[in-house]
Amino acid sequence: DPTGEPEGFLTYASEEYAPGPAGTGRINATLLALVRNEELKDMLSSMRDLERTWNHKFNYPWTFFNDVPFTEEFKRETKKLTKAECRYELIPKEHWEVPSWINMDLYKESTAILKENGVQYADMVSYHQMCRWNSGMFYKHPALANTQYYWRVEPKVHFFCDVDYDVFRYMQDNNKTYGFTINLYDSPESVPTLWPETLKFLAEHPDYVHENNAMDWLTDKLRRPFHNKNAGGYSTCHFWSNFEIADMSFWRSKEYEDYFNHLDRAGGFFYERWGDAPVHSIGLGLFEDKNRIHWFRDIGYQHIPFFNCPNSPKCKGCVTGRLTDGEAWLHREDCRPNWFKYAGMG
Ligand code: GDP
Ligand code: MN
Repeated sequence: DPTGEPEGFLTYASEEYAPGPAGTGRINATLLALVRNEELKDMLSSMRDLERTWNHKFNYPWTFFNDVPFTEEFKRETKKLTKAECRYELIPKEHWEVPSWINMDLYKESTAILKENGVQYADMVSYHQMCRWNSGMFYKHPALANTQYYWRVEPKVHFFCDVDYDVFRYMQDNNKTYGFTINLYDSPESVPTLWPETLKFLAEHPDYVHENNAMDWLTDKLRRPFHNKNAGGYSTCHFWSNFEIADMSFWRSKEYEDYFNHLDRAGGFFYERWGDAPVHSIGLGLFEDKNRIHWFRDIGYQHIPFFNCPNSPKCKGCVTGRLTDGEAWLHREDCRPNWFKYAGMG
């Protein structure tokens, strides 16, 4: 199987994780979306899918974040799709603005070159701000001060499978830090100095590395033949962070916080196009126990153009497995087999 997905299909559904009456017994968690007012229609479609397949059984609250105030229309329409509480939060300027130490002339020069090298969104400053916020800021928002777990949801994604257990409770009971569905290679052009900068940080803090880390996955050299460039020693494998179910305690740890601050000072969120996916993935791969990272094989998911499709009657409309030749490249981008090789099925 080119996706590396194992034969068979397991779910964790059991009485233990089944929803209580009217969704009682929730743990400390929220669904979380950074989204623009203009993306309302696509946000509604993501919400519809997640409410239908999962959240109507649990009613976890939704927390929406934006760098500008949400419109009344956005609030009204999103509220209509859920029985759960909805919160609408403005991002403080100091979490979103380009930091003072970034030289905007250098930003323009560097990103013009990235753009020529085909790095998508390189010349869009808000995209860089978004990546930085998702890497090291979102969990510092005062609205999340008392929240531990989150499920990140983007506009225009799809959920295909009925999931009958409380995934947050599963994370808590099984001592998991981070859950993913899709694991991919990144374009090396977007992160040329991310790994060298990481190694500098590790030289200063060798004691931060977890004894059961996933360094082998981060430095795997068995790249597919078409990946002929490298990213300074980084495999570019990363959890695709538009989907995350995770425990914010990890992002709030001293190890990750120091790492983020080091990267932030180095400037690569702007002079290159470091994404929150590789930054989260490297942080987890180095400073967390790899056994605490979980593949949600049973959550059918799509963010264009990639899928995670379980082979299960619980899933409707998830169409991977038999891809046409024109879609073969989708499989070549898949880094899940490497993750399973080094970390097992978790
Ligand atoms: P892609 O998935 O890498 O193509 O990037 P997206 O355009 O989907 O952006 C990632 C996430 O950040 C989505 O949830 C967007 O709605 C959100 N996002 C991106 N830029 C902004 C922005 O400037 N403001 C706000 N409020 N959300 C943004
Ligand atoms: Mn997206």
